[in-house]
Amino acid sequence: MKERPRVVILGGGIGGIKAAQKLANQPVDVLIIDHNNYQVFQPLLYQVATSMLSTDEVVYPIRGFFKKANNVDFLLAEVSGIQPEEKIVKTSHGDVPYDYLIIALGSTPNFFGNKEVERNAFPLKTLQDSIRIRSHLLSVFEEASAETDPEKRKALLTFVFVGAGPIGVEGAGGVSELVYDVLQKEFHHINFDEVSIHLIGADKCVLGMMPENLREDALHVLQKKRIDVQCSMLVTGYDGETLSYRPSSAPKDAPCSTLKTKTVVWSAGVRPVECLSGFTCEKDRGKRLLIDDTIHLQGSNDIFAVGDCSSYTQPGEQRPLPTLAPVAMAEGELAAKNILHELRGEEPEHFHYKSKGVMAIIGSSEAVMAAGPLRVHGFLAWSAWLWIHLLTKAGFHSNITVTFKWIFNYLSGTRLGRLITRPELPGLPESIKNAPEIKNSGAQKQAS
Ligand SMILES: Cc1cc2nc3c(=O)[nH]c(=O)nc-3n(C[C@H](O)[C@H](O)[C@H](O)COP(=O)(O)OP(=O)(O)OC[C@H]3O[C@@H](n4cnc5c(N)ncnc54)[C@H](O)[C@@H]3O)c2cc1C
Repeated sequence: MKERPRVVILGGGIGGIKAAQKLANQPVDVLIIDHNNYQVFQPLLYQVATSMLSTDEVVYPIRGFFKKANNVDFLLAEVSGIQPEEKIVKTSHGDVPYDYLIIALGSTPNFFGNKEVERNAFPLKTLQDSIRIRSHLLSVFEEASAETDPEKRKALLTFVFVGAGPIGVEGAGGVSELVYDVLQKEFHHINFDEVSIHLIGADKCVLGMMPENLREDALHVLQKKRIDVQCSMLVTGYDGETLSYRPSSAPKDAPCSTLKTKTVVWSAGVRPVECLSGFTCEKDRGKRLLIDDTIHLQGSNDIFAVGDCSSYTQPGEQRPLPTLAPVAMAEGELAAKNILHELRGEEPEHFHYKSKGVMAIIGSSEAVMAAGPLRVHGFLAWSAWLWIHLLTKAGFHSNITVTFKWIFNYLSGTRLGRLITRPELPGLPESIKNAPEIKNSGAQKQAS
């Protein structure tokens, strides 16, 4: 081993940055590779999609984390594969050798092989996804305002969220507030009784990971926000015009219910990113990379995998740990620590994850939270959600603006970030179509 081994970290997201922070100013050379030069704080993406926050308030530049650590470098590149025999990573900038590798490439929406839905629904995973959804939501209101055909207008004003976990619940709640608290005051030619918002999930209830009484509270709040909730439903198709779905328990050839809609937001599950599909190693049923309790890839002593792309089932548990930010952070930190332990000739530490709780926000003043024996809903849970997410999110300056923006939105009942910026708007000059916010990113290529 070289005097200063090189640790390559694939992905500058939540898990990758945590690992790099632990290795900062340690006797290793660290290289982070990501196809974006910024980290996205995904829990706040729905707030960009619903015009609450602007894009720069939910991201942080990757180099900005390491101003005081000159052993950490960054490469803006697309990762395309890993060759463990040669200890190299294949990237759009050529081969990158490593001594230790931490894979933290996250996940991508899982459409469960349904290509039609994948082509026509909106995922909510990247910054570009949130910009596309925001532009689309605002555009359909503009179109509906000028549409004279009642059927077409109804389809424009029908919004469907598929997946009744926290992302679907938060998204549907955010859209309900945007529609009824903000747009209703301004679109004078739209009859808002024609608007309908639907949340469709395959599980028996919304927020399946919550205790039962909080699930019921969440359902009650969603209904108060005029969201139609349908559980135990499986979406079977969406061609851009008609969404079809049937009860999860019904046979495959059972007749489907349908909804005419121009908007389907998909948050029904994730799978590891495409560039890991050709990487041969032990994987779980969901194709996530299996790791052991020292965060090493099973059967490897120089490769670690953390966060959404990895899979670890704690002793005594039935299911792998969930794809959540605190899990990615804890795994990233331990992967880094165990590299340092090995370099010092010490024994590795073993992983044990203790959840501090789960929470979901359903709009202003409404959230549910379960932490140990504590079960909270309403304003208290909402305030806790805001503060915990502010504390977890990187960027002191942007956190100040986020705090002010939240207070402003809450008190004024408006949203100033209502920008339609999609590149495919007809008639826009090339210079505007190619604005840097929309082009020039690997994630955009992935999303389109
Ligand atoms: C809308 C939404 C809301 C969420 N809300 C919550 C929440 O409230 N609470 C919570 O705990 N968790 C939440 N999560 C989940 C949480 O964000 C993830 O579990 C966490 O980000 C995983 O961290 P990670 O490091 O594994 O991956 P990520 O943070 O996704 O980082 C992966 C990185 O890899 C990069 N990358 C991917 N492919 C390539 C490639 N081929 N080449 C180069 N770079 C690449 C990406 O650009 C990215 O920077 C939410 C997720 C979403 C999508």
